[in-house]
Amino acid sequence: MTKKTPHILLVNPWIHDFAAYDFWAKPLGLLTLASILRLHGFSVSYIDCLDRFHPKSLEEASVKRQGRGPYLKTQIPRPKGLEDIPRTFSRYGILPEWFINDLLSIPAPELVFVTSLMTYWYPGVKETIVRIKEVFQDIPVVLGGIYATLCHDHAVSQSGADKIVIGAGEKKILTIAEEITGFSSALLFKPEDLDTYPYPAFDLQRKISYIPLLTTKGCPFSCAYCASHFLNPEISRRSPDSIVNEICYWHETFGIMDFAFYDDALLIDPGNHAVPLLEGIINKSVNVRFHTPNALHIREISKKTASLMFNAGFKTLRLGLETVSFDKRSDLDKKVKAEEFQQAVSYLKEAGFNKNQVGAYLLVGLPGQSITDIELAVKTVQKSGITPVPAYYTPIPHTALWNRAVKSSRYDLESDPVFTNNAILPCWREAFSWKDISYIKKIVRGE
Ligand code: SF4
Repeated sequence: MTKKTPHILLVNPWIHDFAAYDFWAKPLGLLTLASILRLHGFSVSYIDCLDRFHPKSLEEASVKRQGRGPYLKTQIPRPKGLEDIPRTFSRYGILPEWFINDLLSIPAPELVFVTSLMTYWYPGVKETIVRIKEVFQDIPVVLGGIYATLCHDHAVSQSGADKIVIGAGEKKILTIAEEITGFSSALLFKPEDLDTYPYPAFDLQRKISYIPLLTTKGCPFSCAYCASHFLNPEISRRSPDSIVNEICYWHETFGIMDFAFYDDALLIDPGNHAVPLLEGIINKSVNVRFHTPNALHIREISKKTASLMFNAGFKTLRLGLETVSFDKRSDLDKKVKAEEFQQAVSYLKEAGFNKNQVGAYLLVGLPGQSITDIELAVKTVQKSGITPVPAYYTPIPHTALWNRAVKSSRYDLESDPVFTNNAILPCWREAFSWKDISYIKKIVRGE
């Protein structure tokens, strides 16, 4: 049965945290859902609570540092249980009254989709849903995304949403939309074939300052601290040609210069994926910049992939080193040996990358980790001639390390996701200390 085109609203919620910054962070999944709905005849609106370019923004919304930039922030009370943390807590994003005005300025939707990211950001999701329901009292709100998937029961009881979607929404969205609106149309893409998806609806944003790309869903590894295998149990890939075409489309149609790969496994099986992709980019002579805010697998960095990345225009590389306790890492991951790391760094340097372009992520705040371990890791990376980048450990449910994290934490991690905030080093027994954080920052700066 079909009826008049229904209107669906998609919302990217606020972040409540001690710190947040737009490091090429866009709700790629939500904007993919928007494009699927649009392709199938729905009318869609999009409101981004993190919009750095909102016309009412008090700060000048400038495109800074290759598309990245700060969010507007408003100080709010710290969550219950974290009152003693000596750091300012904020709502990141537009002011609530602007959000309300934006909601009032669109036709009433028949359905609202809200996404979610970090588990400990759920208070921002909850506040977003409260505001939506103030304006659209009887409209169903559906919540999906990472928090909704990892903390399903918590989301059911705490988020305020009417329905929680677990896992990839792309395969479920049309069914949900049909159930609620009664509108249906023939399927115009194959949910199991990423090449048939419409491009994410980045054009719904007020300004497109960069484009995130996801060329592979999932990862073949199962690192103890990572939920990739839970969030994307199957690996699926786009073809190199379709990715090159998308890059050309955004560059030629919207003048986009910066592209961020969100992949967990960009370099895995390079002969069939990264190599033809990078060669395709080079052959098209598209003069744009690429960034890999998600870590690259060090083992797959060869002379060839390093040189292709450099020639294709990669400007910011992050490597997944995580720790230099190479002999003790088997219970964490199977990422890399000391000599493989050194070899990869020399390939990147030979290819032309400099110290500021290449950073190695180092996990900070693992259960049982000492400052000495971190010091050693930082020094090893510095000695290799690239930049150490601390990645503060977030305990995540459904990961192998979760139980150890719960046992080692000074908080009851299972009682509330706010206690898993990596800014408070939740798995260190000692209380949060600025001294530790300042010391880590100092050694990272090489002081
Ligand atoms: S940390 Fe990286 S390599 Fe390990 S499972 Fe997650 S995405 Fe894969």
